[in-house]
Amino acid sequence: MKNYYIDSLPDYFKQYKKSIKNPKKFWDKIADENFVWYQRWSKVVEYDMQEAKIKWFKNAKLNITKNCLDRHLSLRGEKTAIIWEPNDPGEEAQHITYADLHARVCKMANVLRDLGVKKGDRVCIYLPMIPELAVTMLACARLGAVHSVIFAGFSAAAVTSRVNDCEAKWIVCSDGSYRGNKAIDLKGIIDEAVESCPSVEKILVVKRTSGEVTMKEGRDFWLEPLYEKAPSDFISVIMDAEDPLFILYTSGSTGKPKGMLHTTAGYMVYTAYTFKNVFNYQENDIYWCTADIGWITGHSYILYGPLANGATTVIFEGVPTYPEPDRFWEVIEKHKITQFYTAPTAIRSLAKESYEWVEKHDLSSLRVIGSVGEPINDEAWHWYNDHVGKKKCPVVDTWWQTETGGIMISPIPFVTPTKPTYATLPLPGIQPVLMDDKRNEITGNQVDGNLCIRFPWPGIARTIWGDHQRYKDTYFTAFPGKYFTGDGALRDEVGYYRITGRVDDVIIVSGHNLGTAPIEDSVNQHPAVAESAIVGYPHDIKGSALYGYVILKDVGESRDRENLRKEINQVISDTVGPIAKLDKIQFVSALPKTRSGKIMRRILRKIAEGDFSNFGDTSTLLNPEIVDEIKNERV
Ligand code: ATP
Ligand code: MG
Repeated sequence: MKNYYIDSLPDYFKQYKKSIKNPKKFWDKIADENFVWYQRWSKVVEYDMQEAKIKWFKNAKLNITKNCLDRHLSLRGEKTAIIWEPNDPGEEAQHITYADLHARVCKMANVLRDLGVKKGDRVCIYLPMIPELAVTMLACARLGAVHSVIFAGFSAAAVTSRVNDCEAKWIVCSDGSYRGNKAIDLKGIIDEAVESCPSVEKILVVKRTSGEVTMKEGRDFWLEPLYEKAPSDFISVIMDAEDPLFILYTSGSTGKPKGMLHTTAGYMVYTAYTFKNVFNYQENDIYWCTADIGWITGHSYILYGPLANGATTVIFEGVPTYPEPDRFWEVIEKHKITQFYTAPTAIRSLAKESYEWVEKHDLSSLRVIGSVGEPINDEAWHWYNDHVGKKKCPVVDTWWQTETGGIMISPIPFVTPTKPTYATLPLPGIQPVLMDDKRNEITGNQVDGNLCIRFPWPGIARTIWGDHQRYKDTYFTAFPGKYFTGDGALRDEVGYYRITGRVDDVIIVSGHNLGTAPIEDSVNQHPAVAESAIVGYPHDIKGSALYGYVILKDVGESRDRENLRKEINQVISDTVGPIAKLDKIQFVSALPKTRSGKIMRRILRKIAEGDFSNFGDTSTLLNPEIVDEIKNERV
């Protein structure tokens, strides 16, 4: 990979300027010099922001697995592509070389083809974090099938709706999965799910737990016997740049999940480029992203981005707290991880534990640490920076979305000076703009507004599967000619961006626009507070008032609640200003979260409003039981 590495702040500004002045030339060169193509493109980009039609590298032909596997074989055949760390630390980790991964993917592609899978067919994958998950995705890409990974923690109903939405004829699942000290019967969930999935014809089952399963004759097949006899070569199918690569559903934080469609060439170029720069990736690094592959973070930054760079990437089957709350730190020490990428929800929950769990381990191999998924609050940022990064590893707070395919706003490590809670500067090729509610662009610094992106970038999703109108309405209508992210942001005095939360969650109190993130950030600074969520509710005089849901740390449990409420409001007064004072504070034991770990504020808003009638789509909720508890204890 050459010519696309940013090595200093002046270099960043130089490359950024180039990328904005002539995006076509910028991406043309990157695509040309760093990937293998069967055929070049006739046009770098073609777009119509009104109709939401975007094409990158038009008429180019390629196969992404040639770029992720085949081309590494001569130089890196014996290099480890994937380190698989199992749930149970007693089970041996696997080191899968590029040559071995190539062979496994070819075998799997042969198995799928023999089951009837063809180019353009959708294959749903419901697998835990085992090597076969990566292998199946790559096998689909090799034969041109469209994978749709469904996080293997979703219920049967959530699986049904996703399978039906993309009308998949095949499902690849496992008998079961291990998560911490639990074994989950995945095949049972699939059996239940497919009762209402008329499109499904065949189910391929990977053995993981050896738990009891029912196999339906003619429909269900064990992978093992088919895989054993499958040949270990498979000529990759020639794909058009704009052929679909995968469908992936968003987290469902704000409503019904959207099946985002990503295509081949642009996605590959963008994830490879951003991986290299945002993680300062060097040839012998051992990179670990703790996300599940069932989320976009896993697609782009466990699988495609790292493999396109010939990197070594870790797939971790387990959970952060099993067998003990130091599992992350133990794995970093064990595999000598150089880049570590996780989510604020994980950081906050591990920060609740004594930091001695971290100190027990040698983390000196780390060079860069990252965060993604939600705004990272000040306290969590510092804990991460101090205890994990030891103040020597830049924290890359990466802002992006399922829709964007890859990281959009983030510091470049060792290049961009970091600032807690700020995602800082846009990556080259990305043109953020802040818009006011009257659709005017807000120029200058020290301003805030609706975050939009002006020009398409190669990684942008092309549509919502089967519903282009919804795609257009959601992202391209509110601010004509621009992509609307749905997030609010502020731009500080030097042009750094801070994501302030979802625009839908913005609360207007006495005429002031307040984002949720800065207030939550402030509440979390109180020493007794572990985590919080703020929403607005109607108020006769102010228009809206603020309702805070607060989880206390152990130290807070014995404290007088009224005093705590006063102190929390004092902290807000001191940091954000008296205008952001919380009218009501409810202490809760947990917050409703999506399975990807994000707070579902829309449910909290309903409860604050006293409207218990309809919570909307809650299929992606991790802990539905907490909703009743919060409802019953509403203040
Ligand atoms: P849905 O679109 O279904 O409501 P979702 O938006 O949670 O779900 P994702 O695509 O997984 O689904 O998440 C993208 C969102 O996560 C962003 O729009 C933003 O609100 C938030 N986010 C991601 N990274 C960051 C970050 N570094 N800082 C602040 N917010 C972030
Ligand atoms: Mg979203």
